[in-house]
Amino acid sequence: MAQEVKTTCPYCGVGCGVIARVGDDGAVSVKGDPEHPANFGRLCSKGSALAETLDLDGRLLHPEIGGRRAGWSEALDLVAERFSRSIAEHGPDSVAFYVSGQLLTEDYYIANKLMKGFIGSANIDTNSRLCMSSSVAGHRRAFGSDTVPGAYEDLELAELVVLTGSNLAWCHPVLYQRLSAAKANRPEMKIVVIDPRRTMTADIADMHLAIAPDGDVALFNGLLAHLAASGAVDRNYISNYTSGFDEAVAAASRLDLPALSTATGLTVAQLRAFFRLFETTEKVVTCYSQGVNQSAAGTDKVNAIINCHLATGRIGRPGMGPFSLTGQPNAMGGREVGGLANMLAAHMDIEKSLHRDQVRRFWGAPSVASKPGLKAVDMFRAVADGRIKALWIMATNPVVSMPDADAVEAAIKACPFVVVSDIVRDTDTARHAHVLLPSLGWGEKDGTVTNSERRISRQRPFLAAPGEARPDWWQLAEVGRRMGFAAAFTHGSPAVIFAEHAALSGFENEGRRDFDISAHAEIDGPAYDGLRPFQWPQPQGSAPQKKRFFAEGAFYHPDGRARLVAVEVPRPRSANDAFPFTLNTGRVRDHWHTMTRTGKSARLSGHLAEPFVEIHPRDAQGAGISDADLVTLESPHGAAIVRALVTDRQAEGNLFVPMHWNDQFASKARIDALVAPVTDPVSGQPASKNMPVRASRF
Ligand code: SF4
Repeated sequence: MAQEVKTTCPYCGVGCGVIARVGDDGAVSVKGDPEHPANFGRLCSKGSALAETLDLDGRLLHPEIGGRRAGWSEALDLVAERFSRSIAEHGPDSVAFYVSGQLLTEDYYIANKLMKGFIGSANIDTNSRLCMSSSVAGHRRAFGSDTVPGAYEDLELAELVVLTGSNLAWCHPVLYQRLSAAKANRPEMKIVVIDPRRTMTADIADMHLAIAPDGDVALFNGLLAHLAASGAVDRNYISNYTSGFDEAVAAASRLDLPALSTATGLTVAQLRAFFRLFETTEKVVTCYSQGVNQSAAGTDKVNAIINCHLATGRIGRPGMGPFSLTGQPNAMGGREVGGLANMLAAHMDIEKSLHRDQVRRFWGAPSVASKPGLKAVDMFRAVADGRIKALWIMATNPVVSMPDADAVEAAIKACPFVVVSDIVRDTDTARHAHVLLPSLGWGEKDGTVTNSERRISRQRPFLAAPGEARPDWWQLAEVGRRMGFAAAFTHGSPAVIFAEHAALSGFENEGRRDFDISAHAEIDGPAYDGLRPFQWPQPQGSAPQKKRFFAEGAFYHPDGRARLVAVEVPRPRSANDAFPFTLNTGRVRDHWHTMTRTGKSARLSGHLAEPFVEIHPRDAQGAGISDADLVTLESPHGAAIVRALVTDRQAEGNLFVPMHWNDQFASKARIDALVAPVTDPVSGQPASKNMPVRASRF
């Protein structure tokens, strides 16, 4: 008997609802869920090809120790014994978990509980650090909480949508479809795209600003100064709900228009036109993604954007607000359970003793880690220099995706004990594991994810677990039990974990914290199975559903006010004689991360079949490179060989290379081998853009 199951796409942060149909013959097909509020039935190329990625070729189906097949008990005993021994001999900070925005919230919750509450270290960080941690830091500086104020429908309700550092058409395609449809219905709606490349997204823009890499702080500082000088700010909102306005405007006013033009690479006329459009349009949404976050000034960029919305009071009302678009399917869920090294569960603050005490009492934990742990780049440095002696990597492939990827590979290779939980047997990272643990993949997993608009949706299983694969949360709980914490890890199902997570969110909260889903604290198995997509917060009681935050202040700093943050234009991280080009990395339309799943679909691979570098025709000519030549790219950190794609969509002096390919799909194609491990000083997010490199014909 054919069955249909409602679940959620495992790729980007749009979080589209999917209906998976399993036919009588076992064949799977997918379609968009018309009732899911993120996509209303739409899917993009990746989502609609999900059924093509479900075969078991290359799957890790049994635990392995040192390359030989092992039983679960033996493997889990070994993991628990090695982690316990390292902690006993070298302290809790000698171990670490490196996890992933691919994990479900329930997996993330157990990982965080085990590390921060029971091991007693905060050395758990996630590949979401590479994705949106500058947005988290910017939110917390401005709002006192990691809150996304608006909802997707605000893009449809806006009169002006500013997309900065976001190739929405390729990276959040269904949101792009919604925006395109809104623009088709209301052609008077304006769209501004701010991106060094003329991307597909720029094709629907009324204005494309080909900004210089990392020119965003200068641009939004210039906008704030313009709004203040022209009297276009909301004095009531500023005085009632914010602080720091004068200081932020003073910092923003340091560059005059010609200097702003130099810092942004835009003409004075372009700057004036953008400033005027923002000034004269009431309903403005500013969306930002990795072009903002993946920068040594990422947090300042986020705050420069938020400053403009706070100064105009354009936040938390329909069609208005700053809007962070998360890259991964569950980056938001990870944030909610404290999956970042500097956060605690339920949006509590690891540096606040009150919050640590609340979490400790709720968990019945011996102690909760009292200081932030190592963020991703620092974590792998600690692996390299021997401070981390036992490392558990879950659902991610850092040998491909971390900056300075060759150094990360060397560090993992030299680590005394490495555990990898994955669905794929032979990844660039799994090759160096001492223990491999087989996890469940999409279609087998059972849990929840949160998308970019704070909407929690179920991922439901419709396939049997293959081989001996088990859920990530189960693996973590079993290791926790073996490490002596049995009483704290008795969860028998994801529903039980979700209920605990929901209860913690409401524990001694009383409106003091933004994240509250305690209405679900008593959820049982059947209710969890039937859980419909909902946006948080959903506290206990009968308070009306809150769709947006901050229209009338009520920020989460102790004084209830938002902060406008005075941000300075960063020094240019410029190309030089030895490395004359600026490299930006990013995504393509039809692949996801390191291609372990999308690489299985011939249809998806047909869009762009091999790794490439986009280069402007004049730059190509100057370097003696013709279209389709093989090109060697080099930085002080590494090299890659890719195909030349000569195009005037690319700004002169800039190169673009996708992040997806690895050495399994093309020789010497790991572009992150070139990327320096430079990070934002506030968020710790690596700067995967604006990297000086050289290019030559291979
Ligand atoms: Fe999946 Fe994102 Fe495409 Fe939606 S837009 S189908 S979530 S990849």
